[in-house]
Amino acid sequence: MRVGALRSIRALCVIVGIALAQSAFAATLTSLDVKHAGGTTALEFDLAGKPDTNVFALDNPARLVADFSDTRKVGAIEAAASKSALIKAVRSGPRNQNDLRVVIDLSHVVTFEVAPIRKIGSDGYRLEVVLEGGGSDEGDPIEAIIRSRENAATEALAKRSSSATTPRASSSTRQPAVTHPRRDIVVVVDAGHGGKDPGAVGPHGVYEKTVVLQMAKRLAAKFNAAPGFKAYLTRDRDVFIPLRGRTRIARDRHADFFVSLHADAARSSSARGSSVFALSQHGATSESARWLAKSENNSDLIGGVGGDLSLDDKDEMLRGVLLDLSMTATINDSLAAGTDVFRQIERVNRIRHGRVEQAGFVVLKSPDIPSLLVETGFITNPSEERLLQQASHQQQLMNAVYAGIRAHFERQPPPDSLLAWQRDQARGGARDEYRVSAGDTLSSIAGRFNVSILALKQANRLSSDVLRVGQILNIP
Ligand SMILES: [Zn+2]
Repeated sequence: MRVGALRSIRALCVIVGIALAQSAFAATLTSLDVKHAGGTTALEFDLAGKPDTNVFALDNPARLVADFSDTRKVGAIEAAASKSALIKAVRSGPRNQNDLRVVIDLSHVVTFEVAPIRKIGSDGYRLEVVLEGGGSDEGDPIEAIIRSRENAATEALAKRSSSATTPRASSSTRQPAVTHPRRDIVVVVDAGHGGKDPGAVGPHGVYEKTVVLQMAKRLAAKFNAAPGFKAYLTRDRDVFIPLRGRTRIARDRHADFFVSLHADAARSSSARGSSVFALSQHGATSESARWLAKSENNSDLIGGVGGDLSLDDKDEMLRGVLLDLSMTATINDSLAAGTDVFRQIERVNRIRHGRVEQAGFVVLKSPDIPSLLVETGFITNPSEERLLQQASHQQQLMNAVYAGIRAHFERQPPPDSLLAWQRDQARGGARDEYRVSAGDTLSSIAGRFNVSILALKQANRLSSDVLRVGQILNIP
């Protein structure tokens, strides 16, 4: 679609920022409108002031992200979601202190075009984004929608929290108390390769796929023996699973963490040691990480899943600026957990690099789930090949991976988890503050902390039910 065509569908009605109070921000987002025309859906972001903007799309789940520099939001833009079946929800939050990010959750993947920001009225500006393939509210080929993990988590929480889970936020009656869910933290353990893909092969014919499956079972057993954790394996036998299939399993299980186990290969038989990798936004941190990502990602070629690789190409094109909040947070989480795992492995095995490496492994590209890839050792090194088969060595390594991931969650337990509950108990039940995250509602937070919505609103002097992501609430 050409920009010229955009003009023809522009709104006649111009909404100008209503005499906004001067603020420290260069611009304000005053409204978001949705217009339908000619099989397209146009999003009109109206602004007072002219910020720098950046619009990009992400999938799994499908969403469009619009960033506005040095901008604050004053209009209630969330209602735009009701104007198109294509739009599931509109979320927004501050970013990098002064910037504003708006995330449009879409019912399916679309292509889009951004018109240059233009002046409307005396001091207003409009950013127009036209979504194609979503114009008709009826009969669109709706693709299978992967529910966002946040929604799934909220639903799961609601399910666990007995019948008193849908209190109206406006209600002034005290809600019956609900108990803390004390749920298990779900860890998905992925044994790399499998089936027709043996992975690396040692000088004495030991397959990577074999030793990593043994270790994966040990790691899962370790988690399953620990209260507050539940582990699932992506494979429990010698089968081939495409890389994207592995992260899909993690999503289906609503995993809090994903860890993929591998054994390294090198041309030199003297290369040895373990490495820990997290996903990178900006490509690999070292040449060897780049090379490794390439060889591990090739696993999908062996399986003949060419379609999945094009997704990877797109990811590469979008890398860096095109990652949204959840992805950035996930990478930071992954790196933090990676450091914990790294420190533990360091105690039991030689470490190849002095830090957590970052690389673009397809298997780690699940935007919502913190993930690590652990190269347990070099199967191409004869002595490590032998060690990797030893039960005691396998167990030592997996105890270290377990301890690292556990340490991470002890520091930052999900609020509805048993670990969080235990931490709160240890603090004498003091749960003074809570940071709002995406998908939270007043009722879900009230349920989580076993307080009434009214008490929650009073403690925070809330006059409406609207919460901001990142907002800190006092828990009464
Ligand atoms: Zn591997």
